[in-house]
Amino acid sequence: MLKDFFIGLSQNQLLNNAAKKYGLKLGAQSVVAGTNIDEAIKSMKELNAHGISCTVDNLGEFVFKKEEAEEAKENILKVIEAIHENNVDAHISLKPTQLGLDIDYSFCLSNLREIVDKAHGYDMFVNFDMEDHSHLPQTFELLDELSMEYDNIGTVIQAYFHDAQKYLEKYKNFRLRIVKGAYKEPEEIAYQDKKEIDANFIKLTEWHLLNGKFTSIATHDHRIINHVKEFVKKHNISKDKFEFQMLYGFRKDLQLKLAKEGYNFCTYVPFGNDWYGYFMRRLAERPQNLNLVVKQVFNKKTNTMIGVAAGAFLLGRMSKASKKKRR
Ligand SMILES: Cc1cc2nc3c(=O)[nH]c(=O)nc-3n(C[C@H](O)[C@H](O)[C@H](O)COP(=O)(O)OP(=O)(O)OC[C@H]3O[C@@H](n4cnc5c(N)ncnc54)[C@H](O)[C@@H]3O)c2cc1C
Repeated sequence: MLKDFFIGLSQNQLLNNAAKKYGLKLGAQSVVAGTNIDEAIKSMKELNAHGISCTVDNLGEFVFKKEEAEEAKENILKVIEAIHENNVDAHISLKPTQLGLDIDYSFCLSNLREIVDKAHGYDMFVNFDMEDHSHLPQTFELLDELSMEYDNIGTVIQAYFHDAQKYLEKYKNFRLRIVKGAYKEPEEIAYQDKKEIDANFIKLTEWHLLNGKFTSIATHDHRIINHVKEFVKKHNISKDKFEFQMLYGFRKDLQLKLAKEGYNFCTYVPFGNDWYGYFMRRLAERPQNLNLVVKQVFNKKTNTMIGVAAGAFLLGRMSKASKKKRR
């Protein structure tokens, strides 16, 4: 129920717009690497200093107008330039809806082509993040079309889908990120039970490690990470065939430990004013992340008013949690 509630909040455009005006609040500052490129570059340089590479996401939600998608494209082009200029070890993660997928497929394709082309010039990888199931076929289509021209792209396989294996096999020659899946999906097409999702995550990861090109294992779950460590050892899979990925600000000790142990490690670094939807989805997938909110409410005087107001709002709404779609 708490999950549905935060998914509901993540879809609230009014709150999203309000959040943009106030800058990073409610604890989001510990999981979002700033509101502008300079702050994101600084955070990435710090991670690089620990041997950690980055995949950077210039956050953007609720894109329904062409001007908004074009602005998102221009911003991502600037990020690519900044990564190159600053010699940062990083690549791009983006969401096709941010570039106009909900407006017009060809328009989105052309925006993406511009980004992928610029990144290609700098030998930089671009990951197409996977959103909810309604966007999945077109995201794969975008990948199909652009992969005829470029080899610096890849995408995400979400383990909660019953048919994830089918996509994994079809796209085995791409660099793929395996995740559990962050959206609320119907039970006809997606596992709902955590154990089933975890089992499928492991099955997909093992398959891609043995048969695929390069695997990004994106989870904060130490049990799965330990399992993968054993698996690669047993099957003599070289460390350059895979990496672990986690989100910025989460399990920092474990991120550093894995990098120190000599595993390729990549941190997903979100930044920008549009942090609200991303942050609500993080609260949805792990209610303990509410600790971040609580800490801010009680520790930082400057945030107290907005924190208390939001806390009261959250608690008030919890009892009548909405059942909206997105996770
Ligand atoms: C790099 C990255 C990229 C992603 N990209 C996408 C995408 O494109 N599309 C998409 O749908 N989803 C994406 N996700 C989100 C993903 O689908 C999951 O919703 C999210 O990662 C939660 O699952 P989990 O495996 O990390 O941990 P969970 O299943 O939430 O937790 C499993 C266990 O791990 C431990 N754990 C988890 N978090 C913590 C913590 N913060 N501190 C301490 N212990 C913890 C706990 O023991 C917990 O019981 C991405 C996730 C990552 C890390």
